Amino acid sequence: MSYSNSIKSLIDIQDPNITFDEDCVKAGTFKGKACKYISGTLTYSPTHCVNCGVENTNFTIYKNGTQLSRITLPFTGVNPTYLLLKKQRFLCKKCNNSFTAKTPIVEQNCYISKNVKAQVMIKSAEAQSLKSISKDCSVSPTTVQRVINEGAKQFKPYHAKLPKHLSFDEFKYAKGAMAFEYINVLNGDILDILDRRDSFAIKNHFMVNYSLTDRQNVETVTIDMNAGYVNVIKELFPNAKIIIDRFHLVQLINRSMNKCRVHVMNQFRTSNNEDLKKYRRLKRYWKLILKKASELSSVEYKYYPLFGQRLEISILEEMLAYDPVLKANYELYQILLKAMETKDFQLLASSLENPVQPFISNYMKTSLKTLKKHLPYIQNSFGYPYNNGRIEGMNNKIKVLNRVAYGYRNFDHYKKRIILHFKLKPFETDFKKTEQKSHAPKQCKAA
Ligand SMILES: [Zn+2]
Repeated sequence: MSYSNSIKSLIDIQDPNITFDEDCVKAGTFKGKACKYISGTLTYSPTHCVNCGVENTNFTIYKNGTQLSRITLPFTGVNPTYLLLKKQRFLCKKCNNSFTAKTPIVEQNCYISKNVKAQVMIKSAEAQSLKSISKDCSVSPTTVQRVINEGAKQFKPYHAKLPKHLSFDEFKYAKGAMAFEYINVLNGDILDILDRRDSFAIKNHFMVNYSLTDRQNVETVTIDMNAGYVNVIKELFPNAKIIIDRFHLVQLINRSMNKCRVHVMNQFRTSNNEDLKKYRRLKRYWKLILKKASELSSVEYKYYPLFGQRLEISILEEMLAYDPVLKANYELYQILLKAMETKDFQLLASSLENPVQPFISNYMKTSLKTLKKHLPYIQNSFGYPYNNGRIEGMNNKIKVLNRVAYGYRNFDHYKKRIILHFKLKPFETDFKKTEQKSHAPKQCKAA
């Protein structure tokens, strides 16, 4: 391989019209920073004039001077690297106009090589700030955003057709501002992101972008229980079944159970030593009370501080015996958990229907009310395999992107970054995994 070819291979330039001399690499500075300059020449014999189109025969077009451009390349070693390209100028005898030689390594009127742009795209898919990408690729943060915007164009939401199964969610993106996003629940494709999540904005978006026939074809929409989308969905998608994400159901009763425990626990915070012992135990072993009864060990003796050598199940029973309210709520909580785990709708409905016992705490009563209100949608969640696990995982990544950027002031830029991120790095979730997650009662913190 010649010297020139070795340089080209090193900086990934394939254009055969560019050549390098020996000693073409020189150290220098650019804007006060150390850098490397590689000098090259671009020349060829044009087939025709770019201005008038005349064919280049008998020297109609002749070489006429050169023009020097500085093109940003990806780093070589530790320094920013620039290509000082001497471009051939041509003059056409027929039209008397001149033009400059072209190369595919940069776009026209651009001084950043396509390789640098590709590098920016790859890095922008990672959770990196614009500033750090800009440093790594020796271009300005504005250029980074411009490259992201250009790249996101090809993935622009096109609202062609709605999938049959949608998933709605929202995320916070600035102080007090919430954005709304909807995805295809089956493959995780982000369909669009709106900078507002009020009913008016959502209704308007779907009415403007999709036909009624299209909206009628939507079969299910999965949402969180706390989101107020029910009415909007009924209006927009007349045939869709609303599915409430099961994970949130479990979370709801999980929280009420925990609040009930804290309430009972605080009653034991007295000067009485016996009471204080109960208080400490209820405080320390909060997890056991939230755990699924079927997962408690009844065979393994272990040492528990505050209890001694005991079985998990016997510790739990002792704690429940401290207070009838705790016990009653625990029993109801376990029935609800079981109904959700086994997707037993009859069991769930009947445990909500039963006249509420005097011992049931107000926290639990509120949750029961909420569950009752959403009962038809909960039934749907038992019948379909869809949940919001995927969209919520995506939201976590979106928040990371926002954090590394120290908050985006321009929502449109943020949206493009998000779309690029997920198109270049599709979010993988195992449906089975999120299924399990939606069953597991955890999440609660000790009070
Ligand atoms: Zn010409």
